[in-house]
Amino acid sequence: MVRKKGVQSDPGGGSTSSPALNDRTLPEWLDNQGEHGPVTVLLMAPEHRKGKLPNNPFVIAKSVKEQVGSIAAAYRDKDGHLVVKVRCAKKAAKLLQMKELIDGTKVTVTEHARLNQAKCITTCHTVEDLSEEELTEELADQGVIGVHRLGRKGGKSATMVITLRGTVVPKEIFFGFDRCSTRTYKQSPMQCFRCFGYGHTKARCSAEQELCRNCSKAHAIEKDNDGKTICTAAASCIHCNGAHSPTSRTCPKYAEEEEINEIRTSEDKSAREARRLFLERKAAATSGSSYAAVTGGGNSDAKQLDNVKKELERTKQALVLALEKVAKLKEVIKQNKKSKPSEQATPAEQTQVESESDMDVEEEEKRKRARQHSSDEQTGEDDDDDDDDEEEEDDEDNK
Ligand SMILES: [Zn+2]
Ligand SMILES: [Zn+2]
Ligand SMILES: [Zn+2]
Repeated sequence: MVRKKGVQSDPGGGSTSSPALNDRTLPEWLDNQGEHGPVTVLLMAPEHRKGKLPNNPFVIAKSVKEQVGSIAAAYRDKDGHLVVKVRCAKKAAKLLQMKELIDGTKVTVTEHARLNQAKCITTCHTVEDLSEEELTEELADQGVIGVHRLGRKGGKSATMVITLRGTVVPKEIFFGFDRCSTRTYKQSPMQCFRCFGYGHTKARCSAEQELCRNCSKAHAIEKDNDGKTICTAAASCIHCNGAHSPTSRTCPKYAEEEEINEIRTSEDKSAREARRLFLERKAAATSGSSYAAVTGGGNSDAKQLDNVKKELERTKQALVLALEKVAKLKEVIKQNKKSKPSEQATPAEQTQVESESDMDVEEEEKRKRARQHSSDEQTGEDDDDDDDDEEEEDDEDNK
């Protein structure tokens, strides 16, 4: 039984960014081999921290192939470790067991700590008394590894960021019988609250002096009891000189940083690469050449075409599989018929029975119509029903 109370529906909060690049590529019922599931991201590293994976890329590729066959994708990260993406749960399990490459290099394979997790937002009003830790524990069987309530510290916000194992976010999270739909989690751009630059935090800030959070000047910073900067000057933004705080979300710089984040998640790029791409596209757009022609729109058109092609290919595969199933079912039906011919009517007999019953129905209909017609003639009215008669009576009463 599903309790009605507390059920959250949020039709407005649909996912906008980061298309489901990692979601399964075939529906489960067509994925007999389990090869088209959601992406799992693994990390292959040398067994010892000081060790190294072999430079020879063929050694690594052959080792992986020998272990599991083909995989979805793999690349080296900046540490020289191998990031492996698989769409098959069995292959993921096998890779996690891998201890050695074909050249004898000892390795460990683990789930990628950062890349093999996904975040979403959900709102649930019936769990306000539970702590984040308790919630994480209760939701663990749904793959949840972290819960973080939004809003101020100590507040009991019903809206929370949920971190899940894997790369795909479910449409709903179940809090017991309460079903809460999920929304896309958009990470806000990383900003330093010392110099208000983007891309680093206060802890890693190299600026000489702390700036004012209101006027962006390097005056002595005074804060009130709530930690709010006291400044009597007019608000001024260090990024755009606009009349707003340097941390304002209305700042065009903030919008740019959001766009960089978007490139990062939707195109699966590193932070640095995403920034470079953004600047390149922006430069192309402002220099007069077609924005689309460079890498942005043009590429996404090409990408769309590519996606449609892939989709077609998948549909084709699905059709082939479905046809095979139909053929098999036909075979089974044939054999069933052969094995008990006496119990079942032949197709010809069946149609005869059906048409006979059809005739019965038709006859009955005719008779009904005839009866109705005669009664219509009696009242002299067309097919009005009882309700109208009652209304007429009411009208008469009112008169
Ligand atoms: Zn800084
Ligand atoms: Zn100030
Ligand atoms: Zn600004």
